[in-house]
This record gives sequence, C-alpha cells and structure tokens, in this order.
Amino acid sequence: MTSINPTAPPAFHLLAKPRGAVCNLACTYCFYLSKEKLYPGSAFRMTDQMLETYISRLIEAHRAPEVTIAWQGGEPMLMGLDFFRRSVEYQEKYRRPGMTILNTIQTNGTLINDQWAAFFREHNFLVGISIDGPPQRHDAFRRDKQGRPTFDRVLQGLEIILWRSPAFCGMTWESASSSSSPLSSAGLEAGRSAISPSPPDSTAAF
Ligand code: SF4
Repeated sequence: MTSINPTAPPAFHLLAKPRGAVCNLACTYCFYLSKEKLYPGSAFRMTDQMLETYISRLIEAHRAPEVTIAWQGGEPMLMGLDFFRRSVEYQEKYRRPGMTILNTIQTNGTLINDQWAAFFREHNFLVGISIDGPPQRHDAFRRDKQGRPTFDRVLQGLEIILWRSPAFCGMTWESASSSSSPLSSAGLEAGRSAISPSPPDSTAAF
C-alpha cells in the first residue's frame, strides 16, 4: 500500500476509457475517434494487470467510504463482459470494510443484450445510453462504421435495459442539434412501438 497525501480530496471522479478512442460507431460530430491516430501501434485495450492496478489504486486513494468507478469510451462495452466481471472481482478484492462502490458506464447502447443487462442489474451499474432524439435526428449523425443508421439498435438496447434493469437506466442527448429539441416522450414512444410492440421474451434466461 502506498501512502496517501493527507491533503488530497477525500473523494474524486475519474473516467476510465479502457478501449481509448475505439468505437463501433462513427458519429459525424465525434471529436474523439481521431485520437486513435495519436497512439500508432497501440492495442487500445486496458490490460488485466493495468485493470487490477487501476482499481486497487483508485480505491486506495479514496478516504471517503463511497467510490464511483466510471467507464467511458470510445465504446467501453467493446472490452467484453469478462473484462467487467474481472473489474467487479477486483473491486471486491480491494474494497475496504464498509465501503460502497458504484459503477457507471456510458455507452452508445448498440451492444446491449440480455447478458449485459443481467450483469448491469446484478452489479447495480448506472447505465447511460447516448441517443440524439427521434430517429431522423439521431440517424442524421449517429451512424456506424459502414454508414448505417443506429437508432433501431440503440432503442433495442434501451428496451432491454428498461425491461431488465429499470432502476439503473439513464439517457443522454448528445448532439448540438438535439439540445434545442430534446427527444420528446412522444418521439420515444413512437420509436419504442416501432421497434418493440411488446416486452422482450420474459422467459429469456439470464
Ligand atoms: S458513439 Fe461516442 S465515441 Fe463512438 S463515434 Fe459516437 S460520439 Fe464518438
């Protein structure tokens, strides 16, 4: 254990980007994708050794009894579920008695399935899903690497999260164009009924 500066803040907020700028989308306004070019030859993957070091040092540096571990990208879900399973194992390993740890993740939502939703629910992740408004507004900017629209995939991910983990869902509206006209509940409902007129199969196993 390293010594902690007693004048350091008792708690602080760090964003971890375990895949750096790597993302499965190519939003036209993204300022971050080009940062990949700053690290030629990089694998853009947080190693398991670095993950353990990061978690242990982050917890150790907190004098407050609550620690927030925040995941962002690029697209952090591209690390895969096993990476996040190991993350919560390390959190348990290094958590001090009485300490509360909260995980948050910001995702574009296109990779969410039942397995991810079950994991998020089991470990109380606060999930932020980036969506830019109704389909025509969202798909004007938020396209995948092949140029295909993504609203339907995001909405499917949102549906799964809402049905599986309704207490732990957040949404954001990203683009400048959407800031003056945020997604209306009517717009979301229209999208929802277009994609999923009924709840996902309730018999699906976690
Ligand atoms: S989802 Fe986020 S990181 Fe990925 S291209 Fe869009 S704005 Fe950039």
